[in-house]
Amino acid sequence: MRQSEPSGFRIGIDLGGTKTEAVALSPSGEVVAQERVPTVKGDYAATISTISGLVNRTEDLIGQSCTVGIGIPGAASRDTGLVKNANSTWLIGKPLQKDLEEALGRPVRLQNDANCFAVSEAIDGAGKGAEIVFGVILGTGVGAGIAIRGECLEGRNSIAGEWGHNPLPAARDDERPGLLCYCGRHGCIETFLSGPSLERQYAEAGGKKIAAREIESFSAAGDPLADATLRIYEERLARSLAHVINILDPDIIVLGGGLSNIRRLYDTVPALWGPHVFSDSVRTRLSPPRHGDSSGVRGAAWLWPPTC
Ligand SMILES: [Zn+2]
Repeated sequence: MRQSEPSGFRIGIDLGGTKTEAVALSPSGEVVAQERVPTVKGDYAATISTISGLVNRTEDLIGQSCTVGIGIPGAASRDTGLVKNANSTWLIGKPLQKDLEEALGRPVRLQNDANCFAVSEAIDGAGKGAEIVFGVILGTGVGAGIAIRGECLEGRNSIAGEWGHNPLPAARDDERPGLLCYCGRHGCIETFLSGPSLERQYAEAGGKKIAAREIESFSAAGDPLADATLRIYEERLARSLAHVINILDPDIIVLGGGLSNIRRLYDTVPALWGPHVFSDSVRTRLSPPRHGDSSGVRGAAWLWPPTC
């Protein structure tokens, strides 16, 4: 069993639904090792051995003992330590952090993957130097995390930033009650702003069945349906983020996930959120991620912040 010593090297693990990725970061944040393996679905014991194997191989490769941070698609209850809210359902109710600490012989830090995204972008990404970063994932689902001065804000219920399951703000009559969400509520922000929702809205408007990431290029090529669908999406995203600004007042909002590749959002959405924000001017920036798809795994490593 290894003992962690403060070498300044960090391993981050991103436990995804289909793949599990590890990176090792040098003290300056440079990637010095990387490995990606398939996630063994439905097998908790295999999850523990997969993560242990990644950590052990990475440390052997770089010859350093590292701190370990893990991003999961869910959260650990602060009361029981058991995993909840995970769409990788075999993790639910398991003491993942405790079992990994036993397997690895050291403390590990575990956080929701959207929180890891926010931390990554706050430490050395688009929000570097910002006091308050709101990191949004717009993908298959909609989630978010908050980083304050580079550190994750977890919250008393381990749900800080879980804004995708709030109702769409200032919903119009034609937006109520909204579709039933998997969480049991109607009209969640996620049911309007996820990738599958954008695809469905374009198809319902009479468009072809295309991937959400293609809608911007269809619009740029002159497809009026794609443009109209995106305009509606942008206005709803602006309303949703305006409420975040009213509560958290972040310096920067960083978008991640597949829909963060829609470039026009960064111009159109800040132009639309003003009327919904209780301020004469809005200085909050909206930015694409610096580290793209690597932000989750980098943020997991940075759960042990530079001061550690
Ligand atoms: Zn919901």
